[in-house]
Amino acid sequence: GVISILTAIMLWRLLPEAISLPGKRQMQVTIAELVKAERKLAEANQHLEAEVRKRTAQLEKMATTDELTGLLSRREIMRILEIEIARVSRQSTALSIMMLDLDHFKNINDNFGHQVGDTTLKTVADSFSIFLRKTDFIGRIGGEEFLIVLPDTKLKDAYELAERIRLVLEQHTVQAPSVPACTASIGIAQCQPADNLNSLIQRADEALYQAKSKGRNCVVGKL
Ligand code: GH3
Ligand code: MG
Ligand code: MG
Repeated sequence: GVISILTAIMLWRLLPEAISLPGKRQMQVTIAELVKAERKLAEANQHLEAEVRKRTAQLEKMATTDELTGLLSRREIMRILEIEIARVSRQSTALSIMMLDLDHFKNINDNFGHQVGDTTLKTVADSFSIFLRKTDFIGRIGGEEFLIVLPDTKLKDAYELAERIRLVLEQHTVQAPSVPACTASIGIAQCQPADNLNSLIQRADEALYQAKSKGRNCVVGKL
């Protein structure tokens, strides 16, 4: 009896070591290491989240702006125009759009090289912005073609604005002297209640086509 009690006590003492249960001190060290690892993980996670936010903002900017000119991308200006058209039918305000295409732009590339062509596009794009209000939108929708969205603007006012832009290009006053002069043809259209994105764009496009046929460097408007 006494022997088996002694055996039991010995076993009880040796058991934790036998199945290698960690001692209290060992446990404290392990917990401290775990806490440290957890903190490191949280830090890494925060860093990663910041990186993702940064990249998302970069991608968003890439998708919404035109890299060369810094104007809105085709996709973004179309998205905005769709919203503005919807606003017209809801609030019955005026909305006009302006389609602007540089005249014989191919000649600038041919005569001065593609690099100068690019600089010209950028300089011309910068000079448009001077005429626009904070509520207007401008995008590059093709190589040398621009779309300007003018909320709260009737055709007559859009026409006057288009003329001012056309004249400043023709007179070559705002552009840098190192940039060759170029003119623009402009088609404008005012949004009607029955209009959707396609029909409005098409009317401005037709107006632009007419401006080209009339000899370029002029403005044509279609209600
Ligand atoms: P039009 O008066 O009929 O519009 O004549 P155009 O020469 O302007 O028109 P066309 O469509 O024949 O040619 C447009 C030219 O614009 C072709 C291309 O060389 C040039 N272009 C388009 N995108 C860019 C660009 O991003 N950079 C440069 N440098 N040139 C471009
Ligand atoms: Mg052109
Ligand atoms: Mg063109």
